[in-house]
Amino acid sequence: MSSYDYDLFVIGGGSGGVRGARVAASLGKKVAIAEEYRYGGTCVIRGCVPKKLFVYASQFHEHFEDAAGFGWTVGESSFDWKKLVAAKDVEIARLEGLYKKGLAGANAEILETRAELVDAHTVRLLKTGRTVTAKTIVIATGGRPNPHAALPGHELCISSNEAFHLEELPKSMVISGGGYIAVEFANIFHGLGVETTLIYRGAEILSRFDEDLRRGLHEAMVAKGIRILCHDTLQKVSKGEDGLVLETLNNGTLQAGVVMLALGRDPNTEGLGLEAAGVAVDERGAVIVDEYSRTNVENIYALGDVTNRVQLTPVAIHEAMCFIETEYKNNPTRPDYELIPTAVFSQPEIGTVGLSEEDAGKRYSELEVYRAQFRPLKATLSGRAERMIMKLIVDAASRKVVGAHILGHDAGEMAQLLGITLKAGCTKDDFDRTMALHPTAAEEFVTMYAPSYRIRDGKRI
Ligand code: NDP
Repeated sequence: MSSYDYDLFVIGGGSGGVRGARVAASLGKKVAIAEEYRYGGTCVIRGCVPKKLFVYASQFHEHFEDAAGFGWTVGESSFDWKKLVAAKDVEIARLEGLYKKGLAGANAEILETRAELVDAHTVRLLKTGRTVTAKTIVIATGGRPNPHAALPGHELCISSNEAFHLEELPKSMVISGGGYIAVEFANIFHGLGVETTLIYRGAEILSRFDEDLRRGLHEAMVAKGIRILCHDTLQKVSKGEDGLVLETLNNGTLQAGVVMLALGRDPNTEGLGLEAAGVAVDERGAVIVDEYSRTNVENIYALGDVTNRVQLTPVAIHEAMCFIETEYKNNPTRPDYELIPTAVFSQPEIGTVGLSEEDAGKRYSELEVYRAQFRPLKATLSGRAERMIMKLIVDAASRKVVGAHILGHDAGEMAQLLGITLKAGCTKDDFDRTMALHPTAAEEFVTMYAPSYRIRDGKRI
């Protein structure tokens, strides 16, 4: 009989922690999981899920406009922000309930308290002060928005956390950052009628994506009416007579009702007792783990955003499943980070898997690039000026498709399926001998027979 209270103690009830706790409990392990805020973590409570609901909400005004081209007359429409927030909250509460139900159903003990490490096998539950022991501990405390403490007036700004619960929709908003969150929320708030400005320090938004798509999205966002200021940063935010006053490096003074910072996320390790337990962190405070998600302390693992590997929900879940294999099934399993499909839920959407043209150019001596840009069928009658971009990046030597990129409707859905083809190692010839499904946008991927151009030694020829 074990001398510990639990076989496994999980700190953090987000995607990774809940999955690890639930599956371990279902294997008959004695498991407890502690969460200080709400079960579901960033993804469910204040991230992916509510964000996607807001994306849907922000698209309706375009749907109403487009309807006219198809013979519909849409009556007067109006938008109620409070109603949206309330409806979203109901759905989030339902999902949180499902997370807890899953844990309870597997016989994991659900603790609603902050938990901190006392030593390598002991955890203190802050609500009661009680300490408990566990043979194995998993740290899955996730991350939080970078507050940008160096910015004078940063305390006047909001992050994505608060964006989900604004009392009122502001008339205008400035969003700082050029990554996933900044771009997605710029589109959401613009779509809901907020005058939106995006301010980004680099030359082009979404620095880690294919250049072509970045440019295409930038142009589409500007055409919709979003102001994008590249090569610029906020220098100071202060209270003015009518909202906030922002000093920028290159665009003078701006005014906004709300300023949102979306400058990356920091790991949640402060005050967690990592030092007491002897767990090492990197210079950003992220828990250092080996390729099996094990920390430098033998019985302590860490999963998800707290480890600063790839900050995506499915990655945290995958890491949790690998942890289960490694720890409980005698099958050491390393998470596989190759070819992770990802989407930016911008408008138009970006979906991508594999290498961008630029990165592939550095890795392969010759590439074939297949590129299509076209007006989607729906836009013919709606009259909406929009273009889709689709690209396949092919290694000329092996014929393998090493990157697939989409800008346009359902790009995320397509990227998920293209992910399977790239993972399976499909060649361009496999794409060519696949029958087209007509009329779809995705059929472009199997009907681009001749390369649009080639890249040799990193240069377009
Ligand atoms: P990202 O890493 O995507 O973007 C951070 C942005 O902030 C970058 O544009 C970066 O610029 C900029 N930045 C960082 N520091 C500064 C600074 N000091 N001054 C000015 N600009 C700065 O982070 P997000 O916060 O947007 O999102 C966090 C993570 O959450 C993402 O990495 C992603 O993994 C995940 N996420 C995923 C989503 C999805 O799957 N659809 C949606 C939302 C989030 P630069 O590019 O020049 O470094």
